[in-house]
Amino acid sequence: MTRPVLQTRPGICYICRKRGITQVHHIFYGPLRGMSDENGLIAHLCMDCHMNAPHAVHRCIDTDLKLRQRCQRAFERSHTRDEFVSLVGKNYLTEKEKKK
Ligand SMILES: [Zn+2]
Ligand SMILES: [Zn+2]
Repeated sequence: MTRPVLQTRPGICYICRKRGITQVHHIFYGPLRGMSDENGLIAHLCMDCHMNAPHAVHRCIDTDLKLRQRCQRAFERSHTRDEFVSLVGKNYLTEKEKKK
């Protein structure tokens, strides 16, 4: 796995910042899981934020979307939007944010 695009490390939940056991979440999962792995599009999450709580990334589309947007923003600090879209197949940010 390459260095994560987001500031995230094992043992600290990226969402709630709680210290403890974390799991690797592939921000673009399903068929894109391998691509997420290769490009560091992952976040270390506690079990609650990953799976268990109502706001968990696998249970709440709003949490899922916010994480994808944060990941895209971070990725675009060192890559172009075209590169992101060619990997992920989709743009998650609004046109207004494109100018940054
Ligand atoms: Zn958490
Ligand atoms: Zn996950």
